[in-house]
Amino acid sequence: MSIDTPVLIVGGSLNGLTAALCLAHHGVACILVERHPATTVQYKFRGISPRSMEIFRSLGVEDAVRARDSADQSHEIARARNLADPNVQWSGLAWPDTTAISPIRPATVDQDRLEPILRERAAGLGADIRFNTEMIDFEQDDHGVRARIRDRTSGAEESVAARYLVAADGARSAACTALGIRRTGPGVLQHWMNLIFATDLPLFLRGKRFTSCFVTDVNGSILPRDSGGNWMLAVQYAPERGESPGQFDAAGCLDLVRKAAGRQDVKADLIDARPWEVAERFGKGRAFLIGDAAHVIPPTGGFGGNTGIHDAHNLAWKLSFVLNKGASPSLLDTYDAERRPIAEATLAQALARLSSWFKDPTGRLPPPVPAVDDVDVVFGQIYADGAFVHEGAARASRFEDPRQPSGRPGSRAPHVAIVRDGETSSTLDLFGQEFVLLCGADGDPWVRAAGGIRDETGGGVVAYGIGHDIQDVEGHWLQRYGVTAAGAVLVRPDGIIAWRASGADEAPEATLRSALRQILGVSPAPAP
Ligand SMILES: Cc1cc2nc3c(=O)[nH]c(=O)nc-3n(C[C@H](O)[C@H](O)[C@H](O)COP(=O)(O)OP(=O)(O)OC[C@H]3O[C@@H](n4cnc5c(N)ncnc54)[C@H](O)[C@@H]3O)c2cc1C
Repeated sequence: MSIDTPVLIVGGSLNGLTAALCLAHHGVACILVERHPATTVQYKFRGISPRSMEIFRSLGVEDAVRARDSADQSHEIARARNLADPNVQWSGLAWPDTTAISPIRPATVDQDRLEPILRERAAGLGADIRFNTEMIDFEQDDHGVRARIRDRTSGAEESVAARYLVAADGARSAACTALGIRRTGPGVLQHWMNLIFATDLPLFLRGKRFTSCFVTDVNGSILPRDSGGNWMLAVQYAPERGESPGQFDAAGCLDLVRKAAGRQDVKADLIDARPWEVAERFGKGRAFLIGDAAHVIPPTGGFGGNTGIHDAHNLAWKLSFVLNKGASPSLLDTYDAERRPIAEATLAQALARLSSWFKDPTGRLPPPVPAVDDVDVVFGQIYADGAFVHEGAARASRFEDPRQPSGRPGSRAPHVAIVRDGETSSTLDLFGQEFVLLCGADGDPWVRAAGGIRDETGGGVVAYGIGHDIQDVEGHWLQRYGVTAAGAVLVRPDGIIAWRASGADEAPEATLRSALRQILGVSPAPAP
């Protein structure tokens, strides 16, 4: 039996479920297959960056995620010999105050609590999510992808015919291997184990709640969870010294946890080890890699899972516009052009933090790049090339300071506090489905131009006159978007600036149409 679907997603953990949700949000039908019988019981990912929370807000799950938030903003990062050490060094809040950059706060939700929320919302919007089902293999040609999937309970096999494949099948991605895509980067530099252990350790160190603690006695990091819940200790082992995953038996784990805790009455189990690298391409033909299938980033900085959420968000609107709104398939090439350089730069930042936070027993870490502020890494990503209209040469750095946004095409559209229909919100709340044109107070010709291209490929654009139908309550919009009152800024469905005009234009409709076509890869209509 064969099933047809526009998109097949393989892998139903953090990033596969996010991709299903993003596609369903755009009205794209998809089938997701996950070989496990249910969402994860592991909880590697927990720190949801404020940018990822912006994405979750646009997908309608912010409140549900926030309801599982186990942290408030007072949690700090600690360093000590062990948790019983009286001399704890504090190295600041897990997240600084970013309210000037975004009205949306970060959240701390362990992956096993987050995934059911993503799954439920995606299924509610129509995604066909099949757990206990694995993809056996796939092939593709110019017209589509054909995959074999198997129900792991009954053993029944089905064939799926899809227009596109999204591979969210993790660090050991079989899809990546089958596509013949190599992985580049530092490879296996260090080996880490995640020990999950049940404990009644207190959530407070010397009276302060902590998000994580670097425990120098075991050269590892301890991540607490709710009182009485399962905590995690991440520790290194070195095969060069004859150490191996096998030594992490129950007794070895217990010993490590006791050393880290500085007390005897805790227990431990479970393991994990992984290389850190980026695939040399994020897609081939009709198949695209997202999340750990595309890049494996050390946990230092908490960037890995968040980078995957951004991948899914970036790819989903492009698939939707190609499948349903007449955009050229070349739009999908911009997924690799945009996301891969960001993943490489983010990996370099995570490795720089790894070098400075932990001892490197094997001495194989590369020389660290200059560290960039976490806030820049998360909010200030700048695409070098992709689905936007360039303004001059690309910048060398992949990150900018979002406190002083450039407003350049290829960067995140900044937050500006607005009042709309009497309600206070953010420019960020305008983005998510369509292209949006923000026009200045003297930008009526741009608003009319948007009306004139209503039938354009991509469904045209939704225009807002700032100072007319929307009020800029704090007077920041012109400066943050780098335009004058006669200018306009075109923002993509994923909240990335696609094009801007700093002022008026002699032929605004033609200019706007041309920009949109360029972004969507659509050729100009033939002359009549
Ligand atoms: C200790 C630690 C702490 C971390 N903390 C953070 C953090 O705070 N913030 C952050 O941003 N990141 C963090 N990360 C990184 C983050 O956990 C990962 O990037 C993220 O979990 C990867 O999710 P994924 O969905 O891409 O892949 P995975 O979680 O590996 O999921 C892949 C899924 O695909 C399924 N699958 C594979 N092959 C098939 C097949 N053929 N058919 C069907 N299903 C298949 C697998 O069963 C699996 O469920 C941390 C990582 C570690 C190790």
